[in-house]
Amino acid sequence: MKVGLFGANGRMGRVLVEALDLSEDAMLSVATVRDDSAWVGMNVGELAGIGKKPITCSPISSLQQDSADVMIDFTLPAVIESNLAWCVKNNMPVVIGTTGLNDTQLAALDEAAKQIPIVFAANYSVGVNLMLSLVRQAASVLGNTADIEITEAHHRYKQDAPSGTAMAIGEAIADELGRDLKTCAVYGREGKEPERDQGTIGFATVRAGDIVGEHTALFADIGERLEITHKASSRLTFAKGAVHAAQWLHGRKPGLYSMANVLGLPA
Ligand code: NAD
Repeated sequence: MKVGLFGANGRMGRVLVEALDLSEDAMLSVATVRDDSAWVGMNVGELAGIGKKPITCSPISSLQQDSADVMIDFTLPAVIESNLAWCVKNNMPVVIGTTGLNDTQLAALDEAAKQIPIVFAANYSVGVNLMLSLVRQAASVLGNTADIEITEAHHRYKQDAPSGTAMAIGEAIADELGRDLKTCAVYGREGKEPERDQGTIGFATVRAGDIVGEHTALFADIGERLEITHKASSRLTFAKGAVHAAQWLHGRKPGLYSMANVLGLPA
């Protein structure tokens, strides 16, 4: 199966090159970068630090319908709509890992999924997707008595906060408890605050150094607390998950699929 990359020169793009090189069933067929990028013509293997490979980075405008069977997009929200438009026009399935999408960009995703198959996940690691099931279970037992706080830490370059994964954890817990995250979320705290409202879900963010990604869901009552934590130590875990999702997506009918669908986990 031929897999193409949007944004091959990004932190995730480079690791996706490596994950595709490691895959026995999927192979990298095209690696795109911005038309004006200094990386056009650069060997992808050298870009990813895995030795010379037979593909060089090509400008995004050179992308053709037969360039790939499935595309993978880990770019930035600003380009998601144009990448989706290209996929729809060329009937191309796409795996999307870009996070921090606004309501308009999410609506564009829903619209595109009426015409092409899409996997969209805030996090492609198996452990985090298992965590999404575990927090639902914890919420169903403890959620109406415990205080719920979600903390996350990422590298200094991350541009969206809280992380898409932290938001997905919050959505899963709120959904399980019949709450609306839009009204019950509290983001950060500062200064004098009223006593904690038990119906809220708190979020706290750390941005520092080269932290790949850490998430904790805390359920705290008087006398005990439960913490469910996931720590990613390499971006390769996200990249391998995205390649797995691309293989799963190939040949599916149009629709918006989650990583839980890909892994066969309860949604
Ligand atoms: P990055 O900044 O290193 O890379 C961004 C990529 O987007 C680059 O290749 C860049 O060239 C491309 N890009 C930016 N502007 C562009 C434009 N105008 N036209 C075309 N391409 C453009 O970021 P990153 O750390 O690789 O993360 C990329 C995205 O993936 C982020 O949204 C991040 O939050 C997300 N992410 C998701 C997961 C997951 O499992 N879902 C894991 C890690 C990161």
